[in-house]
Amino acid sequence: MLESYGEAKEDAYRLLGVQRRTADAFYLLGYIAEKEGKTTLAVELYREVLRVEPEYLPAVMRLDKIKTGQEEEQKYRTLVEEAFEYAESLCRDVFGEGGTSNKPSGAGGDKSKPAQSDTVMSMGMILSVGKQIPSKNFNDIVGLDTLKERLFEEFILGLNRPDLFERYHKTTSAALLLYGPPGCGKTLLAEALAGELDSSLIRLKLDEVFDMYMGNTEKNIHAVFEEARREASQHKKCVLLIDEFDGLGLNRVGSTHQPIYRAIESQLLVELTNSSNHPGLVILAATNRPWDVDPTLKRSGRLSDPVYIPPPDTDTRIKLLKHYTQGLPSEVEYERIAQLTEDYSAPDIVKLVDKAKTKAILREYNSGQPSALTTQDLLDALSELPKGTLTAWYNDVYSETQTNPAIPRDYPELYHDIAKRVKNHSSPNEQAKHSVKTA
Ligand code: ADP
Repeated sequence: MLESYGEAKEDAYRLLGVQRRTADAFYLLGYIAEKEGKTTLAVELYREVLRVEPEYLPAVMRLDKIKTGQEEEQKYRTLVEEAFEYAESLCRDVFGEGGTSNKPSGAGGDKSKPAQSDTVMSMGMILSVGKQIPSKNFNDIVGLDTLKERLFEEFILGLNRPDLFERYHKTTSAALLLYGPPGCGKTLLAEALAGELDSSLIRLKLDEVFDMYMGNTEKNIHAVFEEARREASQHKKCVLLIDEFDGLGLNRVGSTHQPIYRAIESQLLVELTNSSNHPGLVILAATNRPWDVDPTLKRSGRLSDPVYIPPPDTDTRIKLLKHYTQGLPSEVEYERIAQLTEDYSAPDIVKLVDKAKTKAILREYNSGQPSALTTQDLLDALSELPKGTLTAWYNDVYSETQTNPAIPRDYPELYHDIAKRVKNHSSPNEQAKHSVKTA
């Protein structure tokens, strides 16, 4: 290892020789110093990096981490001492004064050395990332019938009836990338799939496992995938949902060649590849911004065949309204409300129904007479609520395509479905420009 640092050092000195004040070289020397345990020197070198290039993010992160690392080590030592004293007091209770405990190595045996761990996240953190036993199933999903059929044929049948798949020499699919506007059922599909499989759902959000310290994000990602593979081996099935697969905007920042992002991307690739044949493990990745997912990641496993989850059309909105008012006393012209809620996502519909319910409840409370949810309650609620959230989302995508033409140019297949709706929307500025042009 030291030999490779030696080479790295030579590279850094060469860089400094060519160009005396290169932030990269100071950074590299700082990193080596840190690895060699020369923290004070490392801090000085990272500060030098920032003097040369104040926006040099990796140096900011290392400085930050050294500071928190020192604080955490102190906390860790105090904790270990307390735990050790407690263990000794328990031993004394059980064995009397001469009794001893076996000091766990790393935690009490040698207090100066924290126990080594492969992962930065504790199991508790993974659970908060988190592992759930879902209570949803396909009946909770309104519409998306073709996709439900596909999930049934590709994942559920194979995992619930492996005997059939074996007899026909068919392999179960491993992964699927879902994309589309927010609030249209991507996460719900993963939850319902786990419910149908009666398996646990482990959820990985890239921005939640992101850690400023070089190497830690990769360890966190590895820990979550390991947990998913373990769960699948133990219980024969497990759904891993990688939510906001575009998280960290790897495709955007990737082009700046920041080593930290390249390392995260490689780790994801390794984990996806290692998991692609793991029995019982189903991976669903979801994103609202498919063009921000790095193309290398999309090439791995079945993620190369992304599935579009559309916003609810009029028919689906009628069904959503019926679904969320099911079992209530109601007299509603569903079609009329559905026509008025074009840019409503499913959570927008839930919010609308909820507001309308309050109106019906208040009416009944104030009059003392049995009432029902009416079309008017929904119309009143509509007039009080802001527009559907999809309007803003489509406008944002539209504005982005104006400054970043690479989106429609480089990802036509992903952009195509979304573009059909984007064309109907434009930012106020664009609308103004358009009206000037056509005037
Ligand atoms: P996404 O992951 O696409 O951003 P979600 O799946 O998290 O959206 O949807 C948010 C919530 O909206 C869900 O928890 C559910 O209450 C509701 N919802 C979304 N899609 C549907 C659907 N097709 N049928 C019923 N409810 C839905």
